[in-house]
Amino acid sequence: MTAPHATTSPSQAAPTQVRILLLGGTSEAVALASALAARPRLSVISSLAGRVHQPHLPPGEVRVGGFGGLDGLVHYLQSHHIDLVVDATHPFATRISRNAQQACSHLALPLITLTRPPWTPTPEDRWREVPDTAAAASLTDRPGTTVFLSIGRQDLFPFASCTRAFYVIRAIDEPADPLPAQHRIILERGPFTLDHELALLRSLSIDLLVSKNSGGAATYAKIEAARLLQLPVLMIQRPGDPTNLSKSTVADVLQTLDTLLQKPEHQRSKT
Ligand code: NAP
Repeated sequence: MTAPHATTSPSQAAPTQVRILLLGGTSEAVALASALAARPRLSVISSLAGRVHQPHLPPGEVRVGGFGGLDGLVHYLQSHHIDLVVDATHPFATRISRNAQQACSHLALPLITLTRPPWTPTPEDRWREVPDTAAAASLTDRPGTTVFLSIGRQDLFPFASCTRAFYVIRAIDEPADPLPAQHRIILERGPFTLDHELALLRSLSIDLLVSKNSGGAATYAKIEAARLLQLPVLMIQRPGDPTNLSKSTVADVLQTLDTLLQKPEHQRSKT
């Protein structure tokens, strides 16, 4: 493990700073950065992919952009003397999470993962769970159907060949991928209220909602609105191993971090 980045004073040894890389892009990552900013022994760098034009910036130091794959991340962790990584990226952001796991394992750095729990259907919900975006696209393209695509702008490609249904696409920024023949784009950023989502689904005469199972409160209102309007939902399941152990709330991460930081440094990678 890399030596911690120490601060010194001429008269007495200053407490060792623990340098944390916080992989973000979620509301939980912003909340975590805010909580950690108040802790004097910690030096936190939040990292964003740079996908969103005007992101909600967390407090403290922020870097933006990819690291250049696994090798780039390993190099970054070493050259910035990072002691610990927190992965608070979105549950569908699999590449960066895999790179974080491999880089931390390679450098014997502790890694704490924050993954919000997935949503689960109630008896009133009309969900059909599908494994990925391509499977969702193959089930939507029916004439006379208006589909609400609420899956972000990065995974629209499988819908590009759809010609029969009409798609309402909601995203924070303008999509760059090819789009289905018949579509309308709505640019807006959550969190959304139930009233807002009910009004939107009604005014656009939506017949079918497509959503990722992102979990969390910020975008759950569309699921509640679909339930109240008895609309069917194609729910895209999470990628990866659902049994993967991780923390599910910001409070859980803070507790794990506190426990970890009480251990001697050479034992910290054994989380
Ligand atoms: P991804 O497929 O796992 O990552 C693709 C590449 O983007 C990574 O290999 C990495 O580039 C870079 N990257 C991703 N997250 C990064 C971060 N926090 N800091 C620095 N580089 C990062 O992820 P994604 O699906 O493109 O998501 C990108 C970001 O958007 C993530 O921060 C995620 O939390 C957020 N987000 C994603 C979704 C979603 O549905 N996928 C939804 C909401 C928010 P290098 O290999 O060059 O390091």
